[in-house]
Amino acid sequence: MIPYGKQDISAEDIAAVNAVLTSDYLTQGPKVAEFEQALCDYSGARYCLVVASGTAALHLAVAALELPAGSEGITTPNTFAATANSMAYCGIKPVFADIDPLSHNLCPAAVASAITPATALLTPVHFAGQTADMPALHRLAQQHGLKVIEDAAHAIGSCYADGSPVGNCRYSDATIFSFHPVKTLTCGEGGAVMTNDPILYQRMLLLRSHGITKDPSQLSQQPGPWYHEMQTLGWHYRMTDMQAALGLSQLQRLTLFKARRRALVARYNEALAELPWLKTPQEMEGFSSCFHLYVVEIDYAAIGKSRSQVMDSLMADGIGTQVHYIPVYHHPWYREQYGDKTGSCPVAERYYQHCLSLPLYFTLSDEELRHVNQAIQRLAR
Ligand SMILES: *Cc1c(COP(=O)(O)O)cnc(C)c1O
Repeated sequence: MIPYGKQDISAEDIAAVNAVLTSDYLTQGPKVAEFEQALCDYSGARYCLVVASGTAALHLAVAALELPAGSEGITTPNTFAATANSMAYCGIKPVFADIDPLSHNLCPAAVASAITPATALLTPVHFAGQTADMPALHRLAQQHGLKVIEDAAHAIGSCYADGSPVGNCRYSDATIFSFHPVKTLTCGEGGAVMTNDPILYQRMLLLRSHGITKDPSQLSQQPGPWYHEMQTLGWHYRMTDMQAALGLSQLQRLTLFKARRRALVARYNEALAELPWLKTPQEMEGFSSCFHLYVVEIDYAAIGKSRSQVMDSLMADGIGTQVHYIPVYHHPWYREQYGDKTGSCPVAERYYQHCLSLPLYFTLSDEELRHVNQAIQRLAR
């Protein structure tokens, strides 16, 4: 069975986790700080907090911005629900702007026309690993006084068109990563928020651990060594030292992961280039994506098969596929909460009708990739 995505755990990863298991600290030990420093060193951001998940990272970042209730946030419909949920958690109304048909990322012109006086936040997603047009989105945000959180759950290892690494927050207030096993780099579960803003960092630090601090410089009084204060209503979003040790070990191989993923994408693109009923993904000029997903767009009508039939047929060949994404506003909760937005993002809706994610992961072998390609070619017969 070839799944659509899969982690790679090395002997070094296992040794790193085992070392924590026999140490004094399973959580709140030294590995969390080491992993945070390594992510800062890698990306060039000033601050990093590692947390329990990518979703927790998004929630902390939005909450720490302290935007007025009733604000609107603009994001893409072509994402996992967690992106928009992070706004809903904080009483911010998610507004969806359409995507660009080539990059499948937020279209800056669509964002511009979705801005209202209530808009306070913009959350682009670097879909499949390719960065959104951050210079244009950053400019819009500056013009309209919007905060920006990059959802880079797909994009650790990717670079912007300027060549700098995703995570440096050059174009945003905060950037989040996810370390779920299907993502490029994993902690089992986990996430991170990067930022260059010391105030935002301090707020997120407090919110990550119940809103409680023991830092003497932050306390309103100091009656003794036991004393701590809950200063705001936070959550328990901490990462364990086992997770941090795994992430730290995985991070050593990020360059290797990226090279292999890019090589696999190039191979796929070459093998599938000639099929008139299939569109391969395009990397924009000058971008360097650490591809998380390999998404093709299929003209199902042209081959006389529905997407379900295609997925079943590939499954019969031992090949797992997936659909990324159902436009978020199609989900029942979103319809009930914010009304039926069908038709509001026609490019994303059309894209959703055709997209299919083929297997892409570090250990996918050349033979397995050939097997997938052959199964795809057979679909039209
Ligand atoms: C995976 C993912 C998340 C959530 O990450 P978790 O670690 O699973 O909480 C958020 N946004 C996008 C785009 C994702 O793919």
